[in-house]
Amino acid sequence: MLFDFNMQTTIDKVYDICIVGTGPAGITLARKLAQSGKRIILLEAGGLDYSEQSQNFYECESVGNDAWPKFTRLRYFGGTSNHWSGRCRPFDSSDFDSQKINGLPGWPIRYSALEPYLREAMEILDLNAEQGFQAINDDFLNSHFNPDAFSQSPPTRFKAKYQSEIEAAENIDSFYHATAIDLELDQLKRSVHKLKITNYKEKQATVKADKFILCLGGIETPRFLLNCNKQMTSGVGNATDMVGRCFMEHLNVPMGSFIYRDLDNTADMQFYADDEFVSDKDIGKSNISLGIVSKVKSYGRTKAVKNFFKNIACQMEIEDKVQFISDFKCPGMGNISTLLEQSPNLDSRVSLSHDTDDLGINRAKFDWQISDYDRKTIRETGLAMAKEFSRAGLGVVRLADFMLDESIDIQFGHHAHHMGTTRMSDDPRYGVVDKNSKVHDIDNLYVAGSSVFSTGGACNPTMPIVQLSLRLADHLSG
Ligand SMILES: Cc1cc2nc3c(=O)[nH]c(=O)nc-3n(C[C@H](O)[C@H](O)[C@H](O)COP(=O)(O)OP(=O)(O)OC[C@H]3O[C@@H](n4cnc5c(N)ncnc54)[C@H](O)[C@@H]3O)c2cc1C
Repeated sequence: MLFDFNMQTTIDKVYDICIVGTGPAGITLARKLAQSGKRIILLEAGGLDYSEQSQNFYECESVGNDAWPKFTRLRYFGGTSNHWSGRCRPFDSSDFDSQKINGLPGWPIRYSALEPYLREAMEILDLNAEQGFQAINDDFLNSHFNPDAFSQSPPTRFKAKYQSEIEAAENIDSFYHATAIDLELDQLKRSVHKLKITNYKEKQATVKADKFILCLGGIETPRFLLNCNKQMTSGVGNATDMVGRCFMEHLNVPMGSFIYRDLDNTADMQFYADDEFVSDKDIGKSNISLGIVSKVKSYGRTKAVKNFFKNIACQMEIEDKVQFISDFKCPGMGNISTLLEQSPNLDSRVSLSHDTDDLGINRAKFDWQISDYDRKTIRETGLAMAKEFSRAGLGVVRLADFMLDESIDIQFGHHAHHMGTTRMSDDPRYGVVDKNSKVHDIDNLYVAGSSVFSTGGACNPTMPIVQLSLRLADHLSG
């Protein structure tokens, strides 16, 4: 059943499970737990469609490297799946080898804990399970890099695909316009007694359930826990000051450009660093994409303009100067971009700002930092790729100056993947949730989503989020 909390006056049932957030994590959990007969309440802060009023709650105080936290997530039913791109790749089993990075342990579980949920996750995301994960190019490079195999979701929009199922489900009560604002703990402060919700007009209610699962995304989940500070001044689950720490992204580094030996070659390629190289160099994993920009199509008068600039620019060798007008490269030329693993790092964090949102709740203070380990990952990976590209006879690479000169700051962007801020660890000193995604020290509070990632690998996060959510549903349905 689906309700607008603006219209529905009371919530008086006691539920088995309260799920907060309706992105891929929350909706996957609700559907799966409902199948096991649990009585579910599913809460969404936003409405059924995008609104500026709701999206404004995602405004952050940004003090580190910018990753556009207001724009890289969506605050309405279906969450950020309403504009994700759909690239899917599973974690490797080696992602779960638990060596320490920056003094922090890796995953406390093995890949075998996620593997049983791969096929079901692929079905949820409309991936072709028979076809599996496929590379777009052959194995051209001699060593260190293999073709990267991935699968493309249409992309699945969770609101469009699953809203009617949730509406029809007898044992799911889903409320939108219902922002979770606080947790009330029992007297011993060992379990959540109630969750407080509000609409935008000061209408409030409390929700009672046996278990609570936060699925608010990698920035909002720590923000919410830190703001639950009436009974525990540092926030719920934050006894060891780990909530919000270790924010990780995937690094998108414009490493340089390349030119194919065969100028008629227009094929894009994607490579993935092999385990031996990553472990020998002691660096993070990497996806490297080589894309020919001239393939971008233009039509009509824009095509004529593009051709005009292209001819002049290539003849006069002023391609860089006109690139801001016309997005093309000379024949055979392309750009190198990446999706690189960022290491967990205590200094990269989400904490609370003094600024407040329209409900008077402290906004997130977003401080994204990279470490020397990450700088080494970037430079070692780029250098090895340039050498292999040329050794394989594919052509030549011109690396960006910062790749070779350590005195120049590395340029990098993000991939809208928010990970690590309630990381999984058996030891509460190094994480917020245990291996079952339960918040340490709180008996009935769980987290789902990429905030629980101990390390992020170099794969897109949504399929593992769905796998981990299915695993958590299995754990809670007993
Ligand atoms: C442009 C773009 C492209 C992307 N492309 C890819 C890709 O190709 N592959 C990939 O794997 N990933 C991609 N991603 C990332 C992907 O969208 C996320 O990994 C995924 O949506 C995370 O799911 P989630 O359920 O954890 O969080 P979200 O989808 O962010 O859902 C969180 C939900 O919680 C709700 N909420 C927040 N606060 C509250 C509150 N206080 N009370 C109640 N509800 C609340 C929100 O409204 C939202 O519905 C992309 C992201 C962007 C922005």
